Amino acid sequence: MGNNTELLAASGAETAAQIAAGEVSAAEVLDFWLARAAGDGLNGYLWQADRDSALSGVADSGGPLAGAPIAIKDIFCTEGVPTTAASKILSGYVPPYTATAVGHLRAAGMPMLGKTNMDEFAMGSSNENSAFGACLNPWDTGRVPGGSSGGSAAVVAGGLAPWSLGTDTGGSIRQPAGFCGIVGLKPTYGAISRFGMIAFASSLDQCGPLTRDVTDAALLLAALQGRDEMDSTSVGIEGGIEAPSAERLDGLTFGVPRDLMREGIEAGVLARFEDTLIRIAELGGEIVDIELPHAEHAISAYYVLAPAEASTNLSRYDGVRYGLRASDEDLLSMYEVTREEGFGPEVKRRIMLGTYALSSGYYDAYYGGAQRVRTRIVEDFQDAFGQVDFVVTPTSPTVAFELGEKTADPWSMYLSDIFTVPISLAGVPAISIPAGLAEPEGGGPELPVGFQIAAPAFAEQKLLEAAHALEGAIGFDGSAALEGGLA
Ligand code: GLN
Repeated sequence: MGNNTELLAASGAETAAQIAAGEVSAAEVLDFWLARAAGDGLNGYLWQADRDSALSGVADSGGPLAGAPIAIKDIFCTEGVPTTAASKILSGYVPPYTATAVGHLRAAGMPMLGKTNMDEFAMGSSNENSAFGACLNPWDTGRVPGGSSGGSAAVVAGGLAPWSLGTDTGGSIRQPAGFCGIVGLKPTYGAISRFGMIAFASSLDQCGPLTRDVTDAALLLAALQGRDEMDSTSVGIEGGIEAPSAERLDGLTFGVPRDLMREGIEAGVLARFEDTLIRIAELGGEIVDIELPHAEHAISAYYVLAPAEASTNLSRYDGVRYGLRASDEDLLSMYEVTREEGFGPEVKRRIMLGTYALSSGYYDAYYGGAQRVRTRIVEDFQDAFGQVDFVVTPTSPTVAFELGEKTADPWSMYLSDIFTVPISLAGVPAISIPAGLAEPEGGGPELPVGFQIAAPAFAEQKLLEAAHALEGAIGFDGSAALEGGLA
């Protein structure tokens, strides 16, 4: 240990274990990763730490994560460090406090490498909605890394961080993890505190890890989860989380919602999905067809509910309290000009959609209707989990698409989340693990395909065990992208 190839190849848990065993010093590890991050050729980082800022507030914990540095999505408030949510409206904003989730990682002894690029206020599926430029996919820099946690996925896959923290409202951890060939876990709503996480849609937002493997995801979740008095919706995971060890799937049933998978899925994605079902059967698991009768309406409901919540959450950016202030003529023009200049086009689209959906006379038709659909989807998953242990789908219908391919057509962008959004509405946990490589529809070099596994609320340990067994059988090797991150 100690040579650069070994440091680059190590998972987060392996890195921490090697520090604990005295094979390499924490300082050496930090310097190595700071130098890697400084070579960012993906626009993955919006802000990078130096040695002192990386270690600010970090405890000398001696625990299983100690010394392994992490990249943090720029949606988490970090005291003394600029936090923008990739929006011009927050440029210059330096929070006076740190998000609880980030605080837990510091208490576990983890230095922060930097703040990662994302879609503005986490609205998007490609990272192209960042006010600070798109982030690139290390497998093919002509393609998107996914979004909204695109930077968090790209820096891990591209060898610019051992692991990272992201957030997921409708797929923003799972979809970029899938596009970049890494593991992404969205925990149950309420598993982790949202305090200090800049709000997009508060009834859906949940943070989680993006990692090289399932064990790393479990270790980070163990540190992150818990009840927090500062977030009344946080409850934590009873009994905590342990590193998974399962190698078989005997006695477990996996439900496939075939109806949801009828159209629009690339042939290569479907092929890797079917291969993975065969792996499940080889490990002793049973595949069962299930129905989620209302899931096909999930995108429509989500694009009423999430913008409605966002329009309320984003009303606080008015030029008075945070970041950008434009025009000081009078109060009203300050609000208007600040918001006109500060928000990007997708954010404005959502504020208008959400404000309209909540306006008097339309409230029940749109917001009320979408809430009723959400309830049906919750019930669909309850029914499904009465029959099977897990629900599985591809993470996304396609592999990573080309930069610019979907920017002109928001609806086609929204459809990237067809398999992730129903799970978000149901509030249950789901993980995306790499299922192999496939050629994109238009041809070109092979790209990663994600396999999504969803479980009942707070069944994260069971989910991680199954994902661990499957990961071992798939044997995905993401090392080809590790050098793709450097300029
Ligand atoms: N792509 C979805 C959206 O644009 C989900 C984003 C997210 O999970 N933050 O809203």
